[in-house]
Amino acid sequence: MIYYTILLFVILDFLWTQYLAYRNRKRMNPNIPEQLIGIYDQEKYQKQQAYQKENSRIGLFSGFVSFVIILLILVFNGFGYLDQYVRGYIHNSILVSLAFIGILYIGNEIISLPFSLYDTFVIEKKYGFNKSTLQIFWIDQLKGLILSVILGGLILTLLIWFYNGFGNYAWLYAWGLITAFSLFMTLFYSNIIVPLFNKQTPLEPGELRNAIEKFSQKAGFELTNIYVMDASKRSTKANAYFTGLGSKKRIVLFDTLINDLTTDEIVAVLAHEIGHYKKKHIIQHLITSIYIGVLLFILSFFLNNSTLALALGSEIPSFHLGIIAFSILFTPISLLLGLLMNMASRKNEYEADAYAASFGLGDSLISGLKKLSVEALSNLNPDPWNVFVYYSHPTLLQRIERLRLNNQE
Ligand SMILES: [Zn+2]
Repeated sequence: MIYYTILLFVILDFLWTQYLAYRNRKRMNPNIPEQLIGIYDQEKYQKQQAYQKENSRIGLFSGFVSFVIILLILVFNGFGYLDQYVRGYIHNSILVSLAFIGILYIGNEIISLPFSLYDTFVIEKKYGFNKSTLQIFWIDQLKGLILSVILGGLILTLLIWFYNGFGNYAWLYAWGLITAFSLFMTLFYSNIIVPLFNKQTPLEPGELRNAIEKFSQKAGFELTNIYVMDASKRSTKANAYFTGLGSKKRIVLFDTLINDLTTDEIVAVLAHEIGHYKKKHIIQHLITSIYIGVLLFILSFFLNNSTLALALGSEIPSFHLGIIAFSILFTPISLLLGLLMNMASRKNEYEADAYAASFGLGDSLISGLKKLSVEALSNLNPDPWNVFVYYSHPTLLQRIERLRLNNQE
């Protein structure tokens, strides 16, 4: 019974994803839609449509490959065999789970590698986004692998240890661990992780730095850490982000952003980011933390559950089979929760935009966002269902409309 439920969920999830992708493809149009005239010119629009088409095709293919693989594994009892195989060599229950998850992780990495290569060196290159070399690519892969083995391995070991030995309170320990880890990452991400991949240099004194400092003073936002990151060594796509808490907070600008946008536009983009901070979207993190706690609590009932292990083809209940069953059986709920989180996030984006606009930066924000969207060949005419389900940000047109309303007030 549970076995068929798992199978059904995998199939329904695939069909739902494919249906949404189909809705987006159906909206593609060789003629520029009226509402995009003035944002895209004819030539850039054609390029965007071609780019979208190629991305959608590769997405379709990779989604199909993953689906077939997971289906084959379920039908032919793959998880059960792997479990048995690992147990033939290892007897410690923590090590069995680690080896089992490790093998699946490596397998998944190997399957996704060709797609990643194709995306970077065929599609992104063809449209002029890729600046990465094969050398950078492979070194990134290697660093990523080492990082996930160390960090992922450490956290996983502790989680398995808690759940195997701490009984009813295991989820509380797990929650503490995950909360501590994410807090640590918020504080030290840009000091520890980013330097492994990119160089960050303090923004040089000059017009831009003055403008940013002037703005942050006006906004009552103490900001001393403004960094530029050499994102251009991989891609021409531009971005900026905000990290840290308290005195560790820092703004990181991609060097590509500085090339593409004017000073006013950059200040407007930063005002938006500061808006998130000022509007206490930190509360959001608190809600996320509670959500993780609930998730870990529910997870307790799945781990070491013999019915679930049996459904996946093993006589012996374990942490690793429990987590696989959980991740599949939880799909409908996580879909729903993802949807709610995206709704909340879109609301926050409007508020952060309004914050920037309250400093008279609305027009600069509009022109900055337009440039960023057009440069990245973004799909500016997405299907509303896709926006509703997947988008953490409102579409460009929605944001422009709202900003114009703000301007009139
Ligand atoms: Zn935002």
